[in-house]
Amino acid sequence: MTVRATSRGAQRTSLEGTRAEVLICGASFAGLAAARELAGSGASVLVIDRYEIGERQTSACACPTPWLDAMGVSDSIKQELPFMTFTTPTGAARYRLPWSWSSFDYRQLCELLWEQCGDACFETAKVESVGEPRSDGLIDVVTDRGTLSAPLVVDALGWRRVLSSPHYQPPEAPLSRGLEVHPDHDYSGDALDIWIERSIVRRGYGWRVPAGDEARIGVGSYDPNQHVKEPTVELAERLDRDAVAYQGNWFPHRLRAATEDQIFFAGDSAGHCFPLSGEGIRTAFYFGIACGRELRAVIEGRRDRTAALTAYEAFNSEHKRPFAIALALQRLIPALPPRLLTALLRVIGRQAIVDRAFGWYLDQAAPQFAEAQSDPRTPGRSSDAPALAGAGR
Ligand SMILES: Cc1cc2nc3c(=O)[nH]c(=O)nc-3n(C[C@H](O)[C@H](O)[C@H](O)COP(=O)(O)OP(=O)(O)OC[C@H]3O[C@@H](n4cnc5c(N)ncnc54)[C@H](O)[C@@H]3O)c2cc1C
Repeated sequence: MTVRATSRGAQRTSLEGTRAEVLICGASFAGLAAARELAGSGASVLVIDRYEIGERQTSACACPTPWLDAMGVSDSIKQELPFMTFTTPTGAARYRLPWSWSSFDYRQLCELLWEQCGDACFETAKVESVGEPRSDGLIDVVTDRGTLSAPLVVDALGWRRVLSSPHYQPPEAPLSRGLEVHPDHDYSGDALDIWIERSIVRRGYGWRVPAGDEARIGVGSYDPNQHVKEPTVELAERLDRDAVAYQGNWFPHRLRAATEDQIFFAGDSAGHCFPLSGEGIRTAFYFGIACGRELRAVIEGRRDRTAALTAYEAFNSEHKRPFAIALALQRLIPALPPRLLTALLRVIGRQAIVDRAFGWYLDQAAPQFAEAQSDPRTPGRSSDAPALAGAGR
């Protein structure tokens, strides 16, 4: 049962008229990564989400371990997985990766990120839309607790891209769908397991992510029209596990513009989720950091907002190629005859090829980026920021 921490009713006082220098909408991977880059900047940063930080897990929570280390959130790791297995109808392959995956505890990871966000404030609020353009450069964001405004606004609200118009609407939009169950598990597996079988899902894959005392077993379909509940239950049954504690969502498989109408978009809202693998946590960190650095450059007077938007969009565009390659593979792989796919998986399974292929894959959003400083930072400037009226931590 989900324990609801988000305040309701009388506790939800009005935030109408609240003003911040930076308003980050969405307090998951992308939003918290962006806010973390603003720690010590002296800016008034307000982060909002419809749920409390870490309240609602949004994925199987598997991420390359070097990224969790680089973000300072290794304490949230539940299990390290140095191997991957791939099962097809005609065989299986097991790879030792040049880096490992780790499954983590979502709430703990979010709390650890939030601890690094300095003086940022947080409020629960459901974002509804962006307001009408203003002549003073501020951007209005309409929420269920009133209209908030800031000159710098980030949409890290996930696939729906709420601050864009029109919103993405499945099944027409380029979105995949995923569903997983979280049964108890005392299984000491050391691999992230993948099934590529048309009998489970026509275009997509099944997964099992061991996470200490539980397993995250699910199915993702690249075709948004295909429902994934039945395949998820079937995979859990095959693995002799109960289909309990469901969690599902859409996730994008096409890169989108990272800026629109003076707003920054990071994470799933900008399509920052790799096609084929559906891996979107590391990329949400990566683009969230890039976005946060641009915001910081504006706060510190090194760029104006227009230049920061342009630089961030250019950074986004630099990544078109790997996203396009992954999308082409997403289309090709489900079409391969199973025997050919099995043969290919075995060829790729030679250690030198695994090292190269997975090394390339990690490099497309490398963990060193979390540590690299592209611009010199000035330590926290004295704040002449507008008051953050009504926004408590
Ligand atoms: C079943 C499933 C399993 C997955 N497993 C993995 C995995 O193991 N590894 C991996 O790398 N990727 C995985 N993904 C993809 C991954 O979950 C996403 O790419 C990732 O969560 C994107 O992060 P984000 O911060 O952009 O968005 P999200 O994590 O979706 O966060 C969006 C935030 O915005 C908030 N929000 C949304 N709408 C509103 C609103 N209107 N008002 C206020 N707040 C709002 C939400 O509450 C949430 O906190 C999985 C996806 C699915 C569906």
